[in-house]
Amino acid sequence: MADDRDPRFVPIKVQDGFVVMPDRWKVDFWASMGELSRFFIEIKENARLMGMKCPRCGSVYFWPRSWCHDCYVDTKWVEMSGKGKVTVFGQVEVSLNDIQKEVPFIQGGVHLEGARYATPIGIKKVAFENLYTGMPVRAEFLPPGERTGRIRDFYFVPDE
Ligand SMILES: [Zn+2]
Repeated sequence: MADDRDPRFVPIKVQDGFVVMPDRWKVDFWASMGELSRFFIEIKENARLMGMKCPRCGSVYFWPRSWCHDCYVDTKWVEMSGKGKVTVFGQVEVSLNDIQKEVPFIQGGVHLEGARYATPIGIKKVAFENLYTGMPVRAEFLPPGERTGRIRDFYFVPDE
């Protein structure tokens, strides 16, 4: 018997000529974060953003990566300032999972100070109309009791 809330029994929608099909994919599991474990521990325990720096070329990776893809050497942990600039942004109007339930929300790219690449991440506390490329932003974390050690424990807010 189908549950009324089971999306697999909800009719499809047509948006801009494309079908959007409600579905369910639920698999609970534990995933090892391996060499990047410190990144998640620092977020949860210390509200700190850590990147990784290549000792040979100096590239700083955020999101962290345990080796430099140019030099093929192990990288070392470095603390990021948490400040950066918006590189790209968009407003998401449709919730595609059961984690981000509130729509609309803003997703953007933030280039952290010193980092080699921009990072895709949530941007909050600013109206979409007021965002611009190059806007200075800083990381803000959920309160300690709400942090679960995941990247949704932080987001970026205007730093002006
Ligand atoms: Zn390198």
